[in-house]
Amino acid sequence: MLLIKCPYCEEERPELEFRNAGEAHLVRSPAISEQSDEDFAAFLYFRQNPKGLQFERWRHIHGCGRFFNAVRDSVSDKFLTVYKAGEPRPDVETLLNPETVSDAEPAKKRAPRAKKGEL
Ligand SMILES: [Zn+2]
Repeated sequence: MLLIKCPYCEEERPELEFRNAGEAHLVRSPAISEQSDEDFAAFLYFRQNPKGLQFERWRHIHGCGRFFNAVRDSVSDKFLTVYKAGEPRPDVETLLNPETVSDAEPAKKRAPRAKKGEL
């Protein structure tokens, strides 16, 4: 059974206690009445849904009931990390290569960032 760690309860619990709430870090336009119907429909219905790493919103529905975010690999179903709602998006390079990043020389040891559209 897949175990998911809730960042609020700080416990690994069975996935049956959680519900996926879709893509994370979606931002509603402050001037929503000025948006075209196509832009608003894209905001409401269209999602990235990449194969591989994705940022998702989850809810610990049968626990504390709170929403949180997670980085999950959609191929392996492995959670790389979870973090509280409102916290910034974690750096994927650091999550994938934690041993290559140190406090002493963070810029020199990091692998080059993937270009937009690359996985
Ligand atoms: Zn919880």
